[in-house]
Amino acid sequence: MPHNPIAAPTMTLLTFRFAPSPNGQLHLGHAYSALLNQDLARQAGGRLLLRIEDIDLTRCTPEFEQGIYRDLAWLGIVWETPVRRQSDHFADYEAALQKLVAKDLVYPAFMSRGEIRAHIVEHETAGKPWPRDPDGTPLYPGLDKVLSPGERRRRMHSGEPFAWRLDVEKAVAALPPGGLSWREAERGNWAAAQEVKADPQMWGDVILARKDIPTSYHLSVVVDDALQEVSHVVRGRDLYHATGMQRLLQAHLGLPAPLYLHHRLIDGPDGRKLAKSNRDTGLSALRENGATPADIRRMVGLG
Ligand code: GLU
Repeated sequence: MPHNPIAAPTMTLLTFRFAPSPNGQLHLGHAYSALLNQDLARQAGGRLLLRIEDIDLTRCTPEFEQGIYRDLAWLGIVWETPVRRQSDHFADYEAALQKLVAKDLVYPAFMSRGEIRAHIVEHETAGKPWPRDPDGTPLYPGLDKVLSPGERRRRMHSGEPFAWRLDVEKAVAALPPGGLSWREAERGNWAAAQEVKADPQMWGDVILARKDIPTSYHLSVVVDDALQEVSHVVRGRDLYHATGMQRLLQAHLGLPAPLYLHHRLIDGPDGRKLAKSNRDTGLSALRENGATPADIRRMVGLG
């Protein structure tokens, strides 16, 4: 048999991704996440993808996107092209949403922000604390859930704006017995990943498609991780609890579950969370002040 030295390996490659949103400048926290992804991808002999998460077109700009490419290239990050830009793929998210509509796991939510706030304030002034999600946002009251099918149809067809929300209780109840979990690794020790119980209910009835944007963070991230065959999600600790909701969506959309590693967050010099507007820790400002990529690695503890 002739030997073909350039035959592609049949084994699927491990795939990592760095997925920033171009709604501000990259800072040291992003640098840590991107460098860690690249280090772990190289260690595992895997690929590194870059994904631009720009579904919120009111906050994301082409200038910030260009800044991401510039800062990452300067840092020495090498990513595959073409880069997936989420705003080019709204149809993929819409198709996933329609699967959930067909399964009757989502409902149209008409309440405005003001109505939601008024409902919660009324409840809280009566002395009853309102439940909040892990980010501190009050859970959705879910009043739209009890609308009759006829009323729902009438309001949808009248052109009244609505968001699609996940009926989280129903979605959890519809899972096969045994509960939902994900595998979480530490420091790239993938073989020793620990099973973590998913608790999507802590998020309440999340929005899957906004009134003004035909998708949401949770929906587009699970669709893209699957479409791009991401096997290893390495991202900040601030998204740890989001994984429970994302596992629920993966389960209902029939998508595979990647391995996860939620890394520590980099604090600012004042010990506070880094902001995208922070002058002292923005990568372009650090570069202009003479920092080198090696300095950045040291500053984030990857020296
Ligand atoms: N786009 C998200 C962010 O910038 C990250 C999403 C993810 O890694 O799952 O915070």
